[in-house]
Amino acid sequence: MRQTELLLDGKAQPSQSGAYFEVLAPATEQPLGRSARANAEDVNRAVALAQQGFVEWSALAPAKREACLLKAADIIEQQGLERLLELLMDESGSTIQKARFEIRYTVDLLRTAAGEARRLYGQTFPNDNPNRISMVLRQPLGVVAVVSPYNAPLSLLCKMTAFPLAAGNAVVIKPSEETPMIAVALGQILLEAGLPAKAISVLSGFGAECGAPLTEHPDVHCIALTGSTRTGQLVGASAARRMVRTQLELGGKSAALVLRDVDPAKAAAVVAQGIFTHSGQICMANSRAVVEAAIFDDFVAALKQQAEKLYLGDLRDERSAYGPLINRQAVHKVQQAVDEAVTAGATLLTGGKVQQGLVYQPTVLLHTPSHCTAWREELFGPVLSVIKVDNLAAGIACVNDSDYALSSAVLTKNMVWAMQAARAIQAGSVHIGMHAFQSNALAPIGGSKLSGVGRSGGAYSTAEFTDLKWISMELDDSL
Ligand code: NAD
Repeated sequence: MRQTELLLDGKAQPSQSGAYFEVLAPATEQPLGRSARANAEDVNRAVALAQQGFVEWSALAPAKREACLLKAADIIEQQGLERLLELLMDESGSTIQKARFEIRYTVDLLRTAAGEARRLYGQTFPNDNPNRISMVLRQPLGVVAVVSPYNAPLSLLCKMTAFPLAAGNAVVIKPSEETPMIAVALGQILLEAGLPAKAISVLSGFGAECGAPLTEHPDVHCIALTGSTRTGQLVGASAARRMVRTQLELGGKSAALVLRDVDPAKAAAVVAQGIFTHSGQICMANSRAVVEAAIFDDFVAALKQQAEKLYLGDLRDERSAYGPLINRQAVHKVQQAVDEAVTAGATLLTGGKVQQGLVYQPTVLLHTPSHCTAWREELFGPVLSVIKVDNLAAGIACVNDSDYALSSAVLTKNMVWAMQAARAIQAGSVHIGMHAFQSNALAPIGGSKLSGVGRSGGAYSTAEFTDLKWISMELDDSL
């Protein structure tokens, strides 16, 4: 049995209360170990440490901050691969392929963030008074609370941690209660790479007990949260009362718009990958497919084949394309939505039940009525709803009929149609000729509507985690 503690002042320490909580492995539903359970007292301690850590870390030369993040990437590549792979498979139910992808992306994020440490660019601007100079200084914010989800517990956490650190902020991390161990592992790697002990803390624990006191703490200057829309609304509302900066990456109900000029079989393979990867537990998963009538039947036939040929094996098996959902509640939520859609008139093309344990079958619903949960809400599971439309304009309207606006895909070879759709679709990103779930450490990732506020990646993260100060100077030395 594994056991992890809180990470405070550079050391593994039990929580003030001495309490722990059990961490289950989704693949077996058996205990993997236990993690220290932080509460408000631990939050106070971590934030106080972070205030000191901020002073030390922000005063360091940018080249030193850059070197630390680069070293963390090297440590992962040279010594951390096996340990992180095991944790990702055990704790988050990732297949080995998804775990490898996540680790590669994490290394890329660390190196991209490292470069940002030297790019805290300011500006000068003209002043009509010739005796005055005006300039803009870009500065870190202070203490950033980082609250992360379970689905990509290493890479997303790293993204929310590395960019604020690069800009000179200190971080206090509250990882998902489903995946605390991987967060502690990342924290230890950053410390080993030379991050000052007080510049990072990891507080494993629950949302209400630890996440809320952290995000409501008066000495937290910015909150980076990736999680569900519900949590984002709670955290965002409390932050707004205190005028604290937030970067909220929340839920999605992304759509793939499939136009009549594509090969239906190839398009079906792309769309299937965009929903069934990591069993649909990806914020940008295209859980809706909006398909032009001319190719609808061929597309649907190919999709059925794609869904039914997915290999559901052991997570460590290289052929496994698919794994368990995170817990029983997640399975229940998916089953309820599928049953509701079928009762309301949707056709169940394939899937629709649990395969074994927490593994839910790859599921495709046709003609899901638009009031159904499966069409409107994020299920965070392997369920795709497919709908038929008459033309491009109807397709765009259908894609935009959503409270979410995170990502989307347009499958066509016609670049005029593609650009018409890309401009009109309401989403933080539009991917042409690909599925909706794409990553790039430099890209501005994020959404609007209920999908959140702000963008993360490359220079866009730097903008989120820094503030601008106008400094003007009188050059007339008459004082
Ligand atoms: P969640 O909202 O349940 O939890 C996210 C984090 O918030 C956890 O660490 C949790 O403990 C914490 N939390 C819960 N209540 C809190 C509160 N009152 N105050 C402060 N913190 C609190 O989300 P999840 O189930 O872990 O993750 C899945 C969700 O994350 C999905 O909705 C998914 O779309 C979203 N997500 C979004 C993106 C994106 O880039 N937009 C990426 C990945 C995941």
